[in-house]
Amino acid sequence: MKLFHINQEEMDKRTFFKSAALAGAGLFATRIGTTATPDLPYLRLFSPGPLTNDQGEYVLPPLDYPYNALEPHIDEQTLKLHHDKHHAGYVRGVNKAMKAIQGAREKNDFSLIKHWERELAFHGAGHVMHSIYWKNMTPKKTSPSGTLKKYIKRDFGSQEAFINYFTAATKSVEGSGWGILAYQTGTDKLVVLQAEKHQNQSQWISIPILVCDVWEHAYYLKYQNKRAEYIRNFFDVVNWDDVGSRLDHLLDMA
Ligand code: MN
Repeated sequence: MKLFHINQEEMDKRTFFKSAALAGAGLFATRIGTTATPDLPYLRLFSPGPLTNDQGEYVLPPLDYPYNALEPHIDEQTLKLHHDKHHAGYVRGVNKAMKAIQGAREKNDFSLIKHWERELAFHGAGHVMHSIYWKNMTPKKTSPSGTLKKYIKRDFGSQEAFINYFTAATKSVEGSGWGILAYQTGTDKLVVLQAEKHQNQSQWISIPILVCDVWEHAYYLKYQNKRAEYIRNFFDVVNWDDVGSRLDHLLDMA
């Protein structure tokens, strides 16, 4: 997961090694020579671009729909505050942490490094998770198809069984956090995870493809303490096409 800013030189190096490895296998030869934003499958999940701009600063991605588009399931006031204030705060926070860490490296003064690494994890994870969450929702009615549909049936039995399980797991996240449907690299399976806050990822090999924000700011204005009702209604606006394409991109990388 791209939590950390990679500078141009490192990016070129990574692109080169990845391209060289893939070209060696006779694949993706056209990717050789890409520069600042390589066309890597996981970066495409954050279409129209990666989470950073050309200067390497993290940026707040615009929503693909108006603030009132998900009514009545997600109300306009909550969505506006959530995106414009909360998510924007994570973007500011991760940029601030990156800058402070860069300064610490330049001065070779790491006396506050523990603080800034925690800030980097907290705000960086918040930025990543919210960037997925907005894309995971749509006012259009969608349903799982293709590989996603097959994997949900294989790993959870049925779509209904998956939703029941995901809802129960997400409802019982202790305090603030997230319910996550993730693709587990190394096993080729889908798993449901809880994340307390968002920097506390429990399985490093699992990459989120569907996330449900259960920090109170995500639902409290409308649902108060009825977290389960919010999660049920969240499923009425899930963008299964987006979830499916995240899985497809990850499988492309295999
Ligand atoms: Mn949130």
